[in-house]
Amino acid sequence: MKTIPLKSINETDRQLNEESAPNSLPFVSRRLFVGAAALAGAGFIGGDASAQTRAEQVAGRRGNNPSDPGPENKTLLEANPSANTPPFTDHGNPGPIWYSFDLAPKRMQGGGWTHQVTQRELPPSKDLAGVNMRLTAGSFRELHWHTANEWAIMLTGKARVSVMQPDGKMFIDDVEAGDLWYFPSGYPHSIQGLKGEGPTGDPASDGCEFLLVFDEGSFSEDDTFLLSEFLAHTPPEILQKNTGWSRQVFDQLPPTELYIFEAPLPGRLEDDKRFLGPNLETKIKYTFKMASMPPTGKSAGGETRVVDSTNFPVALNIAAAVVTIKPGGLREMHWHPNVSEWQYWMKGKGRMTVVTAEAKARTMDFNPNDVGFVPSMAGHSIENTGTEDLVFLEMFRTSRYQDISLNQWIARMPDKMAEAHLKLAARTIRSAPQDKHDLLPA
Ligand code: MN
Ligand code: MN
Repeated sequence: MKTIPLKSINETDRQLNEESAPNSLPFVSRRLFVGAAALAGAGFIGGDASAQTRAEQVAGRRGNNPSDPGPENKTLLEANPSANTPPFTDHGNPGPIWYSFDLAPKRMQGGGWTHQVTQRELPPSKDLAGVNMRLTAGSFRELHWHTANEWAIMLTGKARVSVMQPDGKMFIDDVEAGDLWYFPSGYPHSIQGLKGEGPTGDPASDGCEFLLVFDEGSFSEDDTFLLSEFLAHTPPEILQKNTGWSRQVFDQLPPTELYIFEAPLPGRLEDDKRFLGPNLETKIKYTFKMASMPPTGKSAGGETRVVDSTNFPVALNIAAAVVTIKPGGLREMHWHPNVSEWQYWMKGKGRMTVVTAEAKARTMDFNPNDVGFVPSMAGHSIENTGTEDLVFLEMFRTSRYQDISLNQWIARMPDKMAEAHLKLAARTIRSAPQDKHDLLPA
């Protein structure tokens, strides 16, 4: 027997009860409802969901109407009840706002694996693309560079990273969970997994796992400039002239890419820095220790940490907000006036509603390792629907983080302007939060 998840039924009932409360608007009156149904039957309202009236949306959630007696993917529906039985306020199709790294093709090699969520997987995401990668202890992501800027957060474990500037100065550092890095486009860099303190064989202390974010939606991790390929595809006599190495050396170099590969653990960071010496080490910081950063905003609803070019000066084109929401808390209704938003969900469970122009609205549920997308300027809000803290990243292709709070905007409207638009008394309007809070408690 097929049933829709209990939570969805309860949620729909709650919405319907609210709809039929004495003070509800007249659009659910029987006369209007019958009228809309008759129009639909006569073919005046076609299959286009965007032509649905509020009455139809509500009717579609009554009685047996939302039942789904045919085949269904129960695992997917349980993870995303809002996609199965969307709130009645959802309308039309604003395009995909959800994808998951756990659906993306995984490239597995000795030393680790990688998978990516780019514009190929999530077509509206033209600004940013993400890569999730694992390197075991000692293993390298081969020395490389690429056309996009690279922002990263270490999710678990430790790694050593290095990058060289065009002036020949180097930066080298060790990073651990919560640390960020930013490598400008074209700057050659390396990432090597390190060993943690845990027992041998413990995956959590064997190398690391991290998220990379690139400021090109069509970026591909398989399409970077590699040290091995530059050497293997330059004629041997040119390589000989360039390096002074003998002709035989060419045949000993890797004939194809290494990409991800196992290698011995490095020595101590101090030794690597000593090798560079003070004249070769840059003063510019390409890593950022987020764990030691005080929250940008903190309330009973949770806390936010904004990292952009104002506090991490090398991050000139990718800005981030790390958001922690307490159970039941809400990332308030807002939008970003400058750019689209790409999200990585790290911990807990949540639900996001996105509202775009032309009354298009979509609500989806998110779990760890999922990716969210909000089109440029679209209004959105995120609720922690789980029992533990929800942690996710808001990523933007910009040098400076910006958002606009709906509550703050309403609070700044003169009474008559607000009353005329909201059809509410000023006393009711002013009972809302009168400022920007980012996170509201349950
Ligand atoms: Mn890279
Ligand atoms: Mn946002």
